[in-house]
Amino acid sequence: MRRVAILGSTGSIGTQAIDVIARNPGRFEVAGLAAGGGNVELLVEQARTLRPDVVAVSDPEAATRVAAELDGVEVWSGADAATRLAGLDCDVVLNGITGAAGLEPTLATLAAGTTLALANKESLVIGGRLVTDAAAPDQIVAVDSEHSAFAQALRAGRAEEVRRLILTASGGPFRGWTREQLRGVTPSQALAHPTWAMGRVITINSATLVNKGLELLEAGLLYGVDLDDITVVVHPQSMVHSMVEFWDGSTIAQASPPDMRLPIALGLSWPERLADVARPCDWTQASSWTFEPLDASVFPAVELARQVGKAGGTAPAVFNAANEVCVDAFCAGDLEFSGIVEVVADVVAAHLAQPPTGPLSVASVLAADASARSAAADRIARIKES
Ligand code: NDP
Repeated sequence: MRRVAILGSTGSIGTQAIDVIARNPGRFEVAGLAAGGGNVELLVEQARTLRPDVVAVSDPEAATRVAAELDGVEVWSGADAATRLAGLDCDVVLNGITGAAGLEPTLATLAAGTTLALANKESLVIGGRLVTDAAAPDQIVAVDSEHSAFAQALRAGRAEEVRRLILTASGGPFRGWTREQLRGVTPSQALAHPTWAMGRVITINSATLVNKGLELLEAGLLYGVDLDDITVVVHPQSMVHSMVEFWDGSTIAQASPPDMRLPIALGLSWPERLADVARPCDWTQASSWTFEPLDASVFPAVELARQVGKAGGTAPAVFNAANEVCVDAFCAGDLEFSGIVEVVADVVAAHLAQPPTGPLSVASVLAADASARSAAADRIARIKES
């Protein structure tokens, strides 16, 4: 029986994790749930069903409402509630929080010596070495489907035999579009992902390809591969979740129909596999899987991320924070779609022109995050005025 804490339990990753747990009675015990407080009804229902020891809610008002509905379950509240929950005595913490808010829970999980099933790629990307240095070997298990694919394919050889990682991308809803066409994109168009149903931020990030940029950085950090040895390939069917090329010329791919329950289940049970988690590929039906290069002139986010990753330090935190602000502005109708990556690139360029000195620390990451948010907001306001 594995004791699990689920951070972001009301989100896309969190609810699918609970589905995996419900389908595997006797395998998991839920020690804690954490959420922002945006969906009190669902959180209360989850707590009544799963009977965790603790429910952590970042919004104090929502926490009071949750506590009023629950008997015999401790309710913690405040901005640090998920971080405190991450330190709970359990076997696995699944971090399914969105955005930079996941950093401190990630670090708290690692400090507690608990296995971290990591969906919140932002915490790894912005924390960089702070996160990798805090992790024991195999303490972080990737939940992102691409990185789960890498972990599975990497079992086929030794680390020194790896030549290249091939990171697949669906291409998002605007694959094949021109820069001009992208200018008029609306939030509802960007939220209609062709192959995956996910939370709002990652769905917009998939449309801009910022998500693929974050994943490139995530892969470099998780598997110690040089960023120049990671190739992004567009694969619209999302059946091959990524590949590892070995030095003998062999490429190992991991394939399955798109269903996040598969990498989530592996994240919870690693290194074992649970039975019948998801539907496998149907080889009795004719099908075509295609692969094409990414058009970096229309989707510059991946190369921008590569640049940011090579710069290191707090540059990835700046890239991520500026993007989070731009995604909110785009969804609010304050920034056009192409403006997202343009503003992020501007904020990153200003940061790289005058990078902060001094060692990387949680404080320096959070400071860079805050100043990138205000720089992005200023630029968006100026664009709106012009
Ligand atoms: P959602 O927006 O669907 O869910 C986010 C969750 O985080 C919600 O439960 C939200 O609670 C909670 N949350 C937000 N802020 C806090 C906080 N300060 N403390 C505690 N909980 C908080 O996002 P997704 O599930 O789509 O994505 C989560 C992460 O997983 C992201 O990093 C994403 O990139 C990654 N990921 C997601 C995939 C997917 O298929 N969805 C695939 C691969 C990676 P509330 O509802 O109360 O606001």
